[in-house]
Amino acid sequence: MREEKISVPQHLGPEVDGAEAGSAYALTTQILDALEQGVILWCTDGTCLKHNQRMLDLMAWHPSELRSGTTLSQVLERGAQRGDTFVPDVAELLGLFGSGTVFHFEQTLSCGRIVSASARPVRNGGYVVAYSDVSEARASLQAIDVARSKADAAERKAVEILHNERARQREASRLAKLNGWLQSCKSLDELYQIVTSFMKLVLPGTQGQLFIYSNSRDILETTCGWNTADGQDPLTPDDCWALRKGRQYLYDPGDLCFVCDHVADATNPEGEIGKYLCVPIVAHGDTVGLLHLQFGTDNPEVTDAVEFASQCGEHISMAIANVKLRDELQDQSTRDPLTGLYNRRYFLDAMRRELATATTRQSTFVLLSLDADRFKQFNDEHGHDAGDHVLEMLSQKLVEMDVSGAVACRIGGEEFSVILPNADRTRAGFAAEELRQSVADMRVKHMGSDLPKVTISLGIAIYPTHGTQAKDLIKQADLALYAAKKAGRNCWKVAEGDGMISFE
Ligand code: GH3
Ligand code: MG
Ligand code: MG
Repeated sequence: MREEKISVPQHLGPEVDGAEAGSAYALTTQILDALEQGVILWCTDGTCLKHNQRMLDLMAWHPSELRSGTTLSQVLERGAQRGDTFVPDVAELLGLFGSGTVFHFEQTLSCGRIVSASARPVRNGGYVVAYSDVSEARASLQAIDVARSKADAAERKAVEILHNERARQREASRLAKLNGWLQSCKSLDELYQIVTSFMKLVLPGTQGQLFIYSNSRDILETTCGWNTADGQDPLTPDDCWALRKGRQYLYDPGDLCFVCDHVADATNPEGEIGKYLCVPIVAHGDTVGLLHLQFGTDNPEVTDAVEFASQCGEHISMAIANVKLRDELQDQSTRDPLTGLYNRRYFLDAMRRELATATTRQSTFVLLSLDADRFKQFNDEHGHDAGDHVLEMLSQKLVEMDVSGAVACRIGGEEFSVILPNADRTRAGFAAEELRQSVADMRVKHMGSDLPKVTISLGIAIYPTHGTQAKDLIKQADLALYAAKKAGRNCWKVAEGDGMISFE
């Protein structure tokens, strides 16, 4: 067997003689080959002195690519050429190899494997570099990172879901509360007060108004508002996209949409128009109003302010529908269908209420009883329809009476009663005379022709002078009315004491 001549560079170990050096070198080779890591020994001049087999396997190098004498720059550049990447880069690495310090670097092979290297200087120059495949460890770390970030994301999502769920529950409970209050409203005025307080509380960053159709005209008037100036101008249905389209309208400056006229008109020319929502208020299929809501600052109170506002609109619609229905039913049971005046039943209730108030406040009030003169004859001569029309016009005169809080009722046929709260004898006289005169002056046309004049006779009873019970006052007013008839009609009389009549 040919004896291989081995030269051991002086700088790799203690100075030894030739035979010792040979066995030491063979031992070094054995040790290197037993290592799991790839190892290269670099001389001071940057050439490879020795490497183990594992080094070639690790780097997928052909034996010709790394042998004794191969230079460091050849190895690094060849790696870069085949697509390996180095951290730090090749130029920096070449510098580090001359630094005489311990350093580490990483080489990611073009196949994707990652090799981590530790370079240690050796005595008298040169470097020992140990390479380890850290691909699996890295993959595991990456997998751990991925798993960790997935867990974090899942946790964030769960917290968000929980937060949203809590917010939804809070909103649902608020809406339920609003609904509870609205459903127990007895009147529209009460309902408007609740809407104002509630909206201010739950959507503090918004401004808004509730518009309701006026009874007589085709316009909508502000009934209540929150965080906004009072006395907004009324609007017409054409002024609002929601009313024109018959569904809620969201204006968002970021979207392609147009400003409603009622919003543009209410904004000063330099003012920017922000996001707002208009929700038609629909009761029993009829549009009865509009909820207008201008969004301002963010509303941390609710998750989706637009959705929440639109649900509030629905609840308000339902409540208005209920109150209106109740009012209509109430009206049907308390109003006279021909004249629209209160009926006898309401009159008796109103008398009881007025007596209670007057007793508590120790005030007076007046009861007027009135009856159309010779109305049978009128009907006979001009027909029942003409008579009906006259009764309607006469009722109008009662409604227009200039007495605050006057309650006008049709007791039956052509007989009427009016309660005048807080009135005394003098006020009663003026009111009766004014009414008598206005009816006598009334000109009524029917079927294109003028009807003859109609007159009324009136009787006056005053609380407490003529009675402290409803039945007594009614009786005294009727007696006074009878006296007026007897006196020739078209006049008024005041009851005096128990059945005593004063003729005026
Ligand atoms: P007096 O001046 O004494 O009150 O005479 P009068 O004819 O008005 O009195 P009377 O009580 O005899 O007649 C009341 C008439 O009122 C009878 C009826 O023809 C008429 N009348 C009652 N209710 C209605 C109604 O709803 N419509 C019309 N058109 N007429 C009515
Ligand atoms: Mg009559
Ligand atoms: Mg009569």
